[in-house]
Amino acid sequence: MSQLKFEEDSLRSTKRIVILGSGFAGIEVLKKLQKKFHSNKNIEITLVSKDNFLLFTPMLPEVASGMIETRHIVTPIRSFCKSQVL
Ligand SMILES: Cc1cc2nc3c(=O)[nH]c(=O)nc-3n(C[C@H](O)[C@H](O)[C@H](O)COP(=O)(O)OP(=O)(O)OC[C@H]3O[C@@H](n4cnc5c(N)ncnc54)[C@H](O)[C@@H]3O)c2cc1C
Repeated sequence: MSQLKFEEDSLRSTKRIVILGSGFAGIEVLKKLQKKFHSNKNIEITLVSKDNFLLFTPMLPEVASGMIETRHIVTPIRSFCKSQVL
């Protein structure tokens, strides 16, 4: 089998999943899919979002009132990604 044919075959067998948004819903789906397909190299998950952080909205009032700092309720999206191609 030629190299080109091999690459075509492996591209065909790769399934791509796109998650739109990295809010609570997107991150939860990402975590579940990563767990389900962690050993499957033929699944490629792409997360598309305009934010590179997850904001824990339930604690926004505490930030507004000065009880905590914004950085305490912000988590980088990359910390949820098992493997990354940025
Ligand atoms: C102050 C406050 C307090 C809250 N407290 C609670 C609570 O106590 N309990 C509770 O259950 N809920 C609470 N909520 C509601 C909760 O935050 C939302 O229900 C939840 O965030 C919705 O999650 P989501 O993933 O659907 O959307 P979001 O969290 O809004 O995520 C949407 C994602 O899509 C991305 N996105 C949007 N448009 C685009 C675009 N055009 N291109 C690329 N990316 C895009 C955004 O960047 C974001 O990452 C609160 C909300 C607020 C504002």
